[in-house]
Amino acid sequence: MVLNDYFCKTCGKIYTDVHNEWCIFCQINDIEQNFANWTSGNEKVDETIQEMQLKIGNITDIIFKWVPYGQFINIKKIGKSTFTTVHSAIWTDGLKYNFEKHEWERKSNKRVTLKCLYDLHGLKEIKSYTIAILRGVPKIYGITQNPDTNDFVMVLQGRIYCEKCGDKYTVLKFKWCKPCQINDLKQNFTNWTSGNEKIDEFIQEMQLKIESSNDRIVEWIPYNQFNDIKKIGNDDITTIYTAVWINGPLEYHGKNKKEQERIPNEKVILKYLYNSQNNINEFLNELKLFLNYRFNFPTLCGVSQNPDTKEYIIVHQDGSYCKDCAGAFTNISDKWCKPCQISVLKKNFANWTSGNEKIDEIIQEGQLKIKTYSDRIIEWISYDKFKNINEIGKDDFAELYSAIWKDGTLYYNSGKVGLIKIPDNKVMLKRFYNSRDITNEFFNEVKSSINKNEICGISQNPTTEDYIIVYKFNNYCQKCGYKYITYGWCKTCYINNLKYNFTTWTSGNKKVDEFIQEMQLNIKSHNDVIFEWIPYNQFNDIKEIHIDDFTTVRSAIWTDGPLCGYNYGYILKRNFYKKVALKCLHNSQNNTIELLNEVKLYSINKNDKSNIRIYGISQDPDTKDYILVFQDSYCEKCGKTYANANAKDLSYKWCNPCHIDNLKQNFTNWTSGNEKIDNFIQTMQ
Ligand SMILES: [Zn+2]
Ligand SMILES: [Zn+2]
Ligand SMILES: [Zn+2]
Ligand SMILES: [Zn+2]
Ligand SMILES: [Zn+2]
Repeated sequence: MVLNDYFCKTCGKIYTDVHNEWCIFCQINDIEQNFANWTSGNEKVDETIQEMQLKIGNITDIIFKWVPYGQFINIKKIGKSTFTTVHSAIWTDGLKYNFEKHEWERKSNKRVTLKCLYDLHGLKEIKSYTIAILRGVPKIYGITQNPDTNDFVMVLQGRIYCEKCGDKYTVLKFKWCKPCQINDLKQNFTNWTSGNEKIDEFIQEMQLKIESSNDRIVEWIPYNQFNDIKKIGNDDITTIYTAVWINGPLEYHGKNKKEQERIPNEKVILKYLYNSQNNINEFLNELKLFLNYRFNFPTLCGVSQNPDTKEYIIVHQDGSYCKDCAGAFTNISDKWCKPCQISVLKKNFANWTSGNEKIDEIIQEGQLKIKTYSDRIIEWISYDKFKNINEIGKDDFAELYSAIWKDGTLYYNSGKVGLIKIPDNKVMLKRFYNSRDITNEFFNEVKSSINKNEICGISQNPTTEDYIIVYKFNNYCQKCGYKYITYGWCKTCYINNLKYNFTTWTSGNKKVDEFIQEMQLNIKSHNDVIFEWIPYNQFNDIKEIHIDDFTTVRSAIWTDGPLCGYNYGYILKRNFYKKVALKCLHNSQNNTIELLNEVKLYSINKNDKSNIRIYGISQDPDTKDYILVFQDSYCEKCGKTYANANAKDLSYKWCNPCHIDNLKQNFTNWTSGNEKIDNFIQTMQ
């Protein structure tokens, strides 16, 4: 891609979406130019439509529209109520984004939902829909008007209301309606029974607790539904079998998961409880554990009974029990059984040795400390398993190398249900000087890295006989070899890089330069803004917001934008075309002390949402006044900062004084026709 491709062919600014050559400035320009070409006939509605149109931020976002009612056909009421205000319809002039071609195309049979707005206060509801792609939130395309009733109507995504009951779907993605599902289950209560009233009640209670289309519908399953029953193990109170459930569970499946169907021949686990037919209360207590959702608990499919022994059976989804020991998995979603894992590792103790008893013990202890399936399993790694060994750094106790570990780390793979190795792992070798006799530095570091589960294993240099700790490479800076403080961020190299840059800029004032350098060297985390000297020619589109005796506040676009991140741990990255606020301190050219004190009032931490973030200092080339550059945090209407007691998060740009003013002005624009009601509504607002 040549550099030219980054810039909009029409306006010359950098593309908002370079890949799709989409420019938000030109898009908004188009939208604004088009304002004159349509009207709803109502000023308030027009304003809302314009506001929604200007919310666009991506090429895939919907351009909100005023839609003539004539573009809808097949308009059908949804739900049984005569008062319903929701209809389904086909939009003959709809649009659809083609993700393969990266463009919007016509769709003459687009299914939509039309929802009536009773009055203009209802316009607020528009905000609960989205023009972007937002999971679980229905899309909104525009507003139309029913010519018969003159009601304004929202044009929404199709199939968001249940066609049976007319309520919104509980789970939009699967078109799942909880009230209708529960209704169906209730209607079915008379069609099955376990023969025991208390067990029936439990199953009914479980069925009515269903919360989403993903939840299993717990059922009474007749024993003749099971085939291919095989014992896998037992203890004093239970026996575990695998079996095939002939009809299988009710599930949403298929490409769009819109139909609820049985999945036949589903593998399940049968858990027999000895003598449960004579001990119903104990059995019920066991079942009641399933009434509350518990993390990492086997999924319950239903309850059954052996017709010969009359023993009750708990039916679980397959994959919740270990086939080797018949115990429930320690981690069900990854099918990991800790007792079995430990016994495999123990059996293997005889197959390797470091040649040193103490080192063997450390490694064995480390292996048995495994807590979860994703823990790295520490090993003895013979030195000839490494290739491409390169020195990258050293300190008083150790030397650091990068290397390729030919076999790679041992770890648990749930897909293959067992231990596997990923070859050609990049690793970091830390060789401790004179560690042949196991120095304290070496021993302490091994212990602490085992506890943090950072260690891949221990090795030994065959020439020096020094012991080596083998770490995963990703935790270390590729430049200096030291450990990242924050993942992927090397403070040492980052600060060195800033220092290196000191010669590339100057404010022209030694005190100011020193202050900025000090601010840069004092950053504590990768979330800190790099405070900098910003030449005034970096600012464009400068607008005055507020002026008083001491200061002038302007908004501007900062071309290069603030330093916002890093590549490879230390290479600085910028956030181009950032809107910022410029606060010019009148007559500050000779008063640097006051200037620098003011800087300290602001925050440099990006996670600090309640304080105004400062980016740097600039200077007006004409007046020589110093300018503080900070976050876009001034209300452009009234010139006050958004920061006030109520503003918890400045990024909301919520200006309380302006909001109240707005409401007050509106008092004259409407009336309920009754003075008392008007007064009431005004005080509520
Ligand atoms: Zn453009
Ligand atoms: Zn429904
Ligand atoms: Zn096991
Ligand atoms: Zn580094
Ligand atoms: Zn304001």
